[in-house]
Amino acid sequence: MSRTRRVEERTVLIDLGFGHPEVLGSYLLEGDPPALVETGPTSCLANLEEGLRACGLALEDLAAVAVTHIHLDHAGAVGALCRRNPRLRVFVHRVGAPHLVDPSRLLRSAARIYGDRMDTLWGEVVPVPADRIVPLSDGDVFECGGRSLTAVDTPGHANHHHVYVDREAGMAFTGDAAGVALPGCPVVRPPTPPPELDLEAWEQTLDRLEVLPVRRLCLTHFGVRDDPTAVLQELRRRLREVERLLWEGWTAGEDVDRLTERLRGYLQPEVESRCGPEVAQRQEVAANHRMNVLGYLRYFEKKQVPR
Ligand SMILES: [Zn+2]
Repeated sequence: MSRTRRVEERTVLIDLGFGHPEVLGSYLLEGDPPALVETGPTSCLANLEEGLRACGLALEDLAAVAVTHIHLDHAGAVGALCRRNPRLRVFVHRVGAPHLVDPSRLLRSAARIYGDRMDTLWGEVVPVPADRIVPLSDGDVFECGGRSLTAVDTPGHANHHHVYVDREAGMAFTGDAAGVALPGCPVVRPPTPPPELDLEAWEQTLDRLEVLPVRRLCLTHFGVRDDPTAVLQELRRRLREVERLLWEGWTAGEDVDRLTERLRGYLQPEVESRCGPEVAQRQEVAANHRMNVLGYLRYFEKKQVPR
């Protein structure tokens, strides 16, 4: 399968090949100078470079990267890219910016979920020099990859999440805010890791996304969707259903293993029958059930009451 596919005239999706094809992507904005939305983790750097090479570019040609949030699958390679390319600028949510400069807290939080798989999954996480970072707030318009992007504050999955809107092209780069929607699969999986999952905030984010002036969503997990409303409505419904399901188990005293089985039993058979077992497996790589359960539990502990 090819490493790259053209999204539109000036935008290319690079498949970062995170263990499987069509799980994790980065978007190349082919302006002058070129830029990326999302870098992926350092463990996928060779694949990112292969994708750039297929477009006649090298890491050193990039002027900027914009990351939707700082989770390692989206932004883990930012520091490594800065080391390779001394003029690279980094656009990031102002709340996430300090954690790129000093990733120690981010790494501790990730280690609680991924344990001894940290290095294999993510590779080296290099601190980003503070002077490379351009912190963004809601509504900021910035030049990136030869076009204007607008930052839209989109908390829920994380409290430091931006969607970037390319108004001229009618596209939005949605990071994790529009969920995990793999090509050809109508079932959207909510990626709900700890520690910042906030369902009320996410619903308000979906309200905002539904009225964006765009025709297409560019998802990090994975690819372009021409049916924004269907994706967003499906995600909204799944977030609520998973909340009900896990709340029921949690208040009945079920432990993390039981809750993980509960969530798997709800999603897996449907995805397998509608999209095939291979898609279910790739969904699991993009946002695994156990991590998603841990995110809800953290959220329940903060709230203590159902909505
Ligand atoms: Zn994330």
